[in-house]
Amino acid sequence: MDNKFDVIVIGAGPGGYVCAIRCAQLGLKTACVESRKTLGGTCLNVGCIPSKSLLNLSEAYYKAKNEFHKLGIEASNINLNLSKMMNNKNKSVITLTKGVEFLFKKNKIIHLKGKGYVKSSNTVEVEDEAGKKTNYKTKNIIISTGSVPATLPEIKIDEKNIVSSTGALSFEKIPKELVIIGGGYIGLEMGSVWKRLGSNVTVIEFLDTIIPEMDKDISKEFLKILQKQGINFKLGSKVTGVQNTGNKSTVNFLDIKSGKKEKIESDKVLVAIGRKPKIGQDIIDLGIKLDNKKIKVNEKFETSIKNIYAIGDVINKGPMLAHKAEDEGIAVAEIIVGQAGHMNYDVIPAVIYTSPEVASVGKTEEQIKKNNIKYKVGKFPFIANSRAKVNNDFDGFVKIIADEKTDKVLGVHMIGPHVGEMIAEMALAMEFGASSEDIARTCHAHPTHTEAIKEAALAVDKRPIHF
Ligand SMILES: Cc1cc2nc3c(=O)[nH]c(=O)nc-3n(C[C@H](O)[C@H](O)[C@H](O)COP(=O)(O)OP(=O)(O)OC[C@H]3O[C@@H](n4cnc5c(N)ncnc54)[C@H](O)[C@@H]3O)c2cc1C
Repeated sequence: MDNKFDVIVIGAGPGGYVCAIRCAQLGLKTACVESRKTLGGTCLNVGCIPSKSLLNLSEAYYKAKNEFHKLGIEASNINLNLSKMMNNKNKSVITLTKGVEFLFKKNKIIHLKGKGYVKSSNTVEVEDEAGKKTNYKTKNIIISTGSVPATLPEIKIDEKNIVSSTGALSFEKIPKELVIIGGGYIGLEMGSVWKRLGSNVTVIEFLDTIIPEMDKDISKEFLKILQKQGINFKLGSKVTGVQNTGNKSTVNFLDIKSGKKEKIESDKVLVAIGRKPKIGQDIIDLGIKLDNKKIKVNEKFETSIKNIYAIGDVINKGPMLAHKAEDEGIAVAEIIVGQAGHMNYDVIPAVIYTSPEVASVGKTEEQIKKNNIKYKVGKFPFIANSRAKVNNDFDGFVKIIADEKTDKVLGVHMIGPHVGEMIAEMALAMEFGASSEDIARTCHAHPTHTEAIKEAALAVDKRPIHF
């Protein structure tokens, strides 16, 4: 192997590995540097994939134990084998990360194992596990180093008692008490997992709402449903410190409005206050411009230094989501070869994989109001959807917001069964500039949950059929 490339991608998460594959498809001689032992980044190793595995398995366990008997499915012994469940999760991770290895080989991408440092606009140094450093020359560099869990200065994560999401994906036994600091999607997904498996879960959130960026109608309903499931919430509460006392920890917090001090003793504490971009000293030393602690890029993903691009969680555009990173990876590869790769940041779906699921795309009602746009809203509850009804799973609703004058769909927000899959239809509709009338006149199969979308579209014009 010679040490010269057209592109070196740093980081093999969903941004980096997808970018490397697209670069190779476009005929560029491509290498991808990864410091982790396995490919796939946060998403495949300690993020999307293991969390979804545990969400799926814990829901199956919970339903088998607590709900099946109500439907005439009776079993005398439903037991949890946590280590088997964890093995299943680990196996899924191994299969998928190996899949990326296979794709690299198939596309003749050179996998450079070690930590990558940007030395100049055409040199990347790779330091392997043994400390050996090698320089590689390249015409283009793509930084895709992702993000790491954030914490508070007063809290020290040890991944034993006080954990990040990574630790919460691998508890060896079910914590009796689990305190989660932060009511964002990662905290609520992990809280759902451990609640279903038997923990008493308390979420402490600084704001007086969960998932603040979400449409308020949805976050109110979501909170009500999670409370009904038995998750405790301390909203408007500021954590002031966590004492790790060996086997247990004490979380001190105060109610912001009243100033009342409270504390909870807990077996495990999950710090889920968000993620921060992973920016190495090399980036700072080179003088690559940052914006709000993220790498600043233009619409072509160029950083402030020529031939150095950046994508994914580490940049100052869009939400920190795997599919956003992937699409940016494809777009930047196409831009490098002179094609018209682009991203539409107005249409990026977001899903929370709890039960029920939560999904959205486009603007929230609050954002639309703030922009002084006149709008109409159509809502349809799953309780009036026949498929949800026969499946005995009908919490939630679909909400479509359309421009009052043009009827163009501006945002779609859903909470309910399978909405994580259903949101793709709405993203496609919005990419095509659909009106709510277009959706209302599209034939939807019966009986499916997607009929709730059609009905919500009809409701925009105040003519739903089944409600
Ligand atoms: C618990 C959890 C659940 C999540 N669930 C979802 C979900 O359901 N859906 C969703 O869309 N998103 C989810 N996310 C977010 C998602 O994982 C990230 O948005 C996504 O992984 C970002 O991709 P990326 O390629 O930018 O970075 P990353 O996936 O973070 O990958 C960056 C890679 O770069 C490597 N790296 C960093 N620095 C260097 C260096 N100097 N040299 C070599 N390698 C380096 C890292 O080791 C890492 O492997 C979840 C995250 C967590 C933590």
